[in-house]
Amino acid sequence: MHEMSIALSICDLAAAEAHKAGGGRIKEVEVEIGTLAGVMVEALEFCFETAKRSTPLAEANLKIVTVPAAGHCHTCGARFAADHYLVTCPECHSFQVVIEQGKELRVKTISIE
Ligand SMILES: [Zn+2]
Repeated sequence: MHEMSIALSICDLAAAEAHKAGGGRIKEVEVEIGTLAGVMVEALEFCFETAKRSTPLAEANLKIVTVPAAGHCHTCGARFAADHYLVTCPECHSFQVVIEQGKELRVKTISIE
């Protein structure tokens, strides 16, 4: 399962960070996930509960921050919300658009006791 490998990566990363910081219990891991990252939040939460067992994150809470997708038009310069990859500019209908955010998948903060 895709979400399980993400959950395991989050645990590895957070455990490594906690170790670098001199150990301690990890209280919370905050993860940013873009709406276009292709991650099912519920599935990730479920997998995290399993993945964190017997790691320094056993008692950690997973906080997921959803990042809405947004695009930028190279033709007219408009910025707009995007809910899928294939978008045209809502202002000028150009296809010269780039997705600027919404693909995030990263650990933002780790709270250690
Ligand atoms: Zn445009």
